[in-house]
Amino acid sequence: MLNQQTEAGGSASALPLQSIFADLHVHIGSSASGLPVKISASRGLTFRSIAHEASIRKGVRLIGVIDCHSPAVQDDIMKLLDAGEMEEAEGGGIRYRDTVILLGAEMEIREPGGGPFHLLGYLPNLQAMQSWTEWMKPRMKNVQLSSQRIHSTARELQNELLARGGLLAPAHVFTPHRGLLGCSADRLEERLDPGGIAAVELGLSADTEMAERLSQLDRYPFLTNSDAHSTGMIARECNELLLREPSFAEFAKALRGEEGRGIAANYGLHPRLGKYHTTWCLNCHKAVPEGLQTESEAMKACPACGSLKLVRGVAERIDQLADRGSKAADSIMQQPSDGSRLQRPPYWRQVPLSFFPGVGPKMRDRLLTEVGTEMEILFRVTYEQLSAVTGEKIAGLILAAREQRVDFIAGSGGTYGKLTEA
Ligand SMILES: [Zn+2]
Ligand SMILES: [Zn+2]
Repeated sequence: MLNQQTEAGGSASALPLQSIFADLHVHIGSSASGLPVKISASRGLTFRSIAHEASIRKGVRLIGVIDCHSPAVQDDIMKLLDAGEMEEAEGGGIRYRDTVILLGAEMEIREPGGGPFHLLGYLPNLQAMQSWTEWMKPRMKNVQLSSQRIHSTARELQNELLARGGLLAPAHVFTPHRGLLGCSADRLEERLDPGGIAAVELGLSADTEMAERLSQLDRYPFLTNSDAHSTGMIARECNELLLREPSFAEFAKALRGEEGRGIAANYGLHPRLGKYHTTWCLNCHKAVPEGLQTESEAMKACPACGSLKLVRGVAERIDQLADRGSKAADSIMQQPSDGSRLQRPPYWRQVPLSFFPGVGPKMRDRLLTEVGTEMEILFRVTYEQLSAVTGEKIAGLILAAREQRVDFIAGSGGTYGKLTEA
């Protein structure tokens, strides 16, 4: 239905609004020449291979590559532009076939009183990104690499980014490992000017219902991005945007909710599958049981061994920061917005195929070639179509996940959650 929406009264040349899948947090492993960019990412992830995967295999028409500050990546982009394989999109970004790549950077900041945290910045065009690289270079050790520490305050970074026409979003905001609210501060405004935050990235271990419990986030749109370190992971979380066309300018309008643009839906991992959903004890080497977690108020120590060395889970961090109960989120979403509070689009909790026990790479390939895209398999195709390839047990599990009838062992301490066979 969404893709049938059009704007009345537009000029003849105006394009209709269309629904577009967008994944705005993808890393680069190396430049085409083999220079490493994100050390932990697959070397096969280059600017070109990401564009190809997004456009041809994933059907993602807006993709944020957040290592474009790296001069080696900029060289790759210039070569692709010169060769005519890509072009600069009019509204900002780099066009490859029907996909546009947004130029982004992920930066790490540490301020007194908190741990290091990541910020995502998107810039309108290559020139602005090159200017951003010049700003970053003297404030960091190695400008070639991804997600490096910037010696600056978050506010100074924010001002400089916005002065170049950029958009700023705190990355994986609740994560104990480099999330602003996860490990640096209790409120965004302790680090950033609230007026200059374009969006908040939820991260893999949280969803809209969880994040809605913090009224401090009411004014910001939520993004669900993959943080992919390999091509297969692209779009494991993504956003459905309503845009006239994929471009930086249209993306900015969508975040501001201008002229009919907006976020139509968030598709995210089931939050219990995320790597930091529950609290982990570094001394016991196991997850703190969830029942115990809710009983102890501040969770300063492991209830099993008393250790203070905990990797605090996103669920518990949200409990600490929330000023609303979890059920309130549902009723609030039905109230008309007073303008200070965004109406939230639906959040679809998904269990990617790779999480189903018994679905190995071979079966996954068969499903993708014989049945449909991953999204179709997870959300649309019938039991009969599935079971013809997977057998009854797995088909039943995929349907159960679709209808939210499955249980999970929650992810914790850096390990993904698991689906349990009921
Ligand atoms: Zn990060
Ligand atoms: Zn312990």
